Amino acid sequence: MEFRDLKHQYAVLKEEIDKNISEVCSSARYISGPQVKELEQQLAEYVGVKHCVTCANGTDALTLALKAWGIGKDDAVFVPDFTFFSTGECPAAEGATPIFVDVDERTFNIDPDKLELAIIKVKSEGKYTPKVVAAVDLFGQPADYPRIKEICKKHDLLLLEDGAQGFGGSINGKMACSFGDISTTSFFPAKPLGCYGDGGAIFTNNDEWAAMLRSLAVHGKNAENKYDNIRLGMNSRLDTIQAAILEVKLKAFREYELNDVNKAAQMYNEALKDTNLVLPLVKENFVSSWAQYTVQLPTSVDRNALQTKLKEQGIPSMVYYMKPMHIQGAFAGTDSVNADCPVTEKLCKAVLSLPMHPYITKEDINAVAEALKINI
Ligand SMILES: *Cc1c(COP(=O)(O)O)cnc(C)c1O
Repeated sequence: MEFRDLKHQYAVLKEEIDKNISEVCSSARYISGPQVKELEQQLAEYVGVKHCVTCANGTDALTLALKAWGIGKDDAVFVPDFTFFSTGECPAAEGATPIFVDVDERTFNIDPDKLELAIIKVKSEGKYTPKVVAAVDLFGQPADYPRIKEICKKHDLLLLEDGAQGFGGSINGKMACSFGDISTTSFFPAKPLGCYGDGGAIFTNNDEWAAMLRSLAVHGKNAENKYDNIRLGMNSRLDTIQAAILEVKLKAFREYELNDVNKAAQMYNEALKDTNLVLPLVKENFVSSWAQYTVQLPTSVDRNALQTKLKEQGIPSMVYYMKPMHIQGAFAGTDSVNADCPVTEKLCKAVLSLPMHPYITKEDINAVAEALKINI
């Protein structure tokens, strides 16, 4: 059994993907070929925003957003303590201070009440200026944007949606990657929509920011002339081959993959309902794209031993995430270590992510459930 069966997916889509790759090879338009623009239009239309700017990966997407806003020294960026490293790494690399906020125990996403308390605390201390809330759509479920947007408005903060895991999710029919003032995603192969290497995208309805992002992604170019460099930028583009692959994968994602992965989640919920595992909760009117199906083990279970036993039965499992962000060595000696995040600390000890992808079978899910039941 595969944790995320990309080989199976390729076998299903092979004919179209091979055709698209070979077209790019023959055209020799390896950088900024017409497929990149086409894909950007398709992504913007799917997400329901005006602009999509593709880039080299989801980490660059976050960095470009922060650069477009001029975030840096003395600025505070509020980040969930339970996320992939990039969400905290990017603001810190720009010279800002990530303020880590605890998450909701059942959705794994930033806790709006604790977010507001953290904003008020930073304001009252006066050392940093609150500028951005970087909310994450962890494991595929959008963060609580109705509440987070209210808080951002009240405290005059920009909202950055890190939708690296959230592409395809929605709240009341409004798509993930449309909630932020700027939103980002990643096309790392194992994400809900993945390419065959690194890739990323940035979404916004704001014309000025979109133009700034396009400039920053190509060495700070002038919109008319790429050899007229009017600011310092990056080299961060999506390769034409990746765009050509993504056109095929986006179609499959829209037509059936998103639906099938939600069916798989329901099968897991059903198969595991009579266990003492805490199952992932998707809030009412929210849709997850199930980047991960993550359960919480009872404290009595030795997670390492369980993973070994599962592995012996051919069942892969992963721990996302082992360490709260504020404890990561990279932040040692900075003010970012001052975080009070007991829920994250508990989750880091209890979580286990199970095999999950659109091509998983009912038999596989039942086998995972049986193996878990025997070993917990
Ligand atoms: C994967 C991921 C990123 C980074 O994406 P890359 O394409 O790997 O750079 C950022 N944030 C979150 C939450 C992620 O899961």
